Amino acid sequence: MKIKKGIGVSPGVAICQAVVVDAEEFDIPQRKVPADHAQAELARLRKALTVSKKELQDLSKRTAERIGRETAGIFDFHISLLEDRSLQKKVQDAIVTGSVTAEYAVATVLRGYAREFLAMPEHLAERVKDVYDIEKRLLRNLIGQKRQSLSHLNQDVSVVAHDLTPSQTASMDRKHIRGIVIDAGGATSHTAILARALGIPTVVGTNDVAAEVTAGDMLIIDGTRGTVILDPDEATITQYKQMAQQQVDFIHSLDSLKDLPAITQDGHEITLLGNIEFPGEAAAVLDKGGQGIGLYRTEFLYLGTEREPNERDHYDAYREVIRLVSDHQVVIRTLDLGADKYTQSRARVPERNPFLGCRSIRFCLQNLPMFKTQIRAILRASVDANASMLFPLVTNLLELRQAKTIVRDVMEDLEEEGIEFRPDIPIGMMVETPSAALQADAFAKEVDFFSIGTNDLVQYTLAVDRGNEKVASMFTVAHPAVLRLIKDIIRTGQRHGISVSLCGEMAADPLYTLLLLGLGLQVFSCAPPAIPELKKMIRSVTMAHARQVARRVMSFQSDKETVNYLHAEVRGILPDDIIG
Ligand code: PEP
Ligand code: MG
Repeated sequence: MKIKKGIGVSPGVAICQAVVVDAEEFDIPQRKVPADHAQAELARLRKALTVSKKELQDLSKRTAERIGRETAGIFDFHISLLEDRSLQKKVQDAIVTGSVTAEYAVATVLRGYAREFLAMPEHLAERVKDVYDIEKRLLRNLIGQKRQSLSHLNQDVSVVAHDLTPSQTASMDRKHIRGIVIDAGGATSHTAILARALGIPTVVGTNDVAAEVTAGDMLIIDGTRGTVILDPDEATITQYKQMAQQQVDFIHSLDSLKDLPAITQDGHEITLLGNIEFPGEAAAVLDKGGQGIGLYRTEFLYLGTEREPNERDHYDAYREVIRLVSDHQVVIRTLDLGADKYTQSRARVPERNPFLGCRSIRFCLQNLPMFKTQIRAILRASVDANASMLFPLVTNLLELRQAKTIVRDVMEDLEEEGIEFRPDIPIGMMVETPSAALQADAFAKEVDFFSIGTNDLVQYTLAVDRGNEKVASMFTVAHPAVLRLIKDIIRTGQRHGISVSLCGEMAADPLYTLLLLGLGLQVFSCAPPAIPELKKMIRSVTMAHARQVARRVMSFQSDKETVNYLHAEVRGILPDDIIG
């Protein structure tokens, strides 16, 4: 039995045999074919195109049903590329004039396309991954090398891979795929996001599991704690089976809380909101008992389209969310592109240090037409809606003022054009850098609300890359420096009479609920599946106890002391295995 640690990105336990999905790098030799074979090669190409298109249509349909239309858009882009006449012609010409096999022509032409994408503006350069995905699909259908099909399985399995493409993940058969292990890092990768959306227990950043596992090996995946156990013994299997059953029973037991308020035993009412990436998820937030959307990560609009989203795309997405939550609140965060979010790996000129580079509000301020397009859509969509606008990664006042000036400019434009918009939309900022936290007093005078982004706040305060599996053990919100910043941000917001929410992953972790309540946090925003547990925690404690816990924690000198103490305090409120 071997225990491997990774990063749990989608909670739950999976106990079953593994299938190993390899990197699927096809090696295509340049094999010449006699000129009179060209027709046969063209026919093979036509067949591969037809089969690939059919596969993608099925995949798009299934994804739309299971995750939502926006995510399915990834595959619509793949289909449109396959249907692209000029691409088809290039491949055909390569076959005829170069006297090469269809697979060689496909590989050469698509690699050329990939290079063209890489030379485009950053958000389009991202699409190169999709081009590789299509290349693999076509080659598979040409060479006849069937990969382990993840969409039609007849027994329960866990998928182990060095890395997975979004289409591999989205095509997974939810009925039989119980868990996912990915050696590559990155809790914010498309693949991790899709796995969460599908509700499959997932651990990423395990480094070397794929090389150690063979198809058929028994695995335990604990997506709550980020643990993978290879070849577990009977006692461990029994223990995890019990744990899995307890988790399921516990989750069902929370259904009854859905319509009850998130109120402490001594009568303090707390607001519980949901984080979403795609409009379709808004319904899940309400379904889980959330009171609105505390963070809508709009940068995910860039994931599902083949072109830069236009004003209409933005507007439609925002109106859809607003429609789904009716009069509940929606916090629309402006594009948080950059760093690990899509622009780097395929960027034309990758930044040397992207987390400290041109990301988020900086990226928007350097790409004004794109930024203004989004702001127009937000302002228009917010008419008669309980919506607000949130700027990410603000680090200095000038940046905030520039962003607000742009909002005013856009309002003037809309006014001149006679287009209806919401002039009094509340404007807030993410407090997710130490500079913003330390200067919260000045910022509080210029915004309507704060939203604390602990994912970035931890990474910038502790100098720990949030997506790097090698330093994952150092990434902790319990570090006294982080807690002091959080406490000060909340206090500052209170002093200025502005709302403060917390929307980083810390909000979803019940281990920290008591502490955050005690620090005065009144608005929590987290992934929809975490809402019921959070509500249970809040309804189980008193504010007096929470304040006492917070006072004690703030006296500790290390994250270990805090974590141990909180574990002891929380024990008995939620089952141990719910708390990672
Ligand atoms: C955060 O940084 O905590 C946050 C909520 O934003 P994101 O995870 O999208 O960077
Ligand atoms: Mg952030």
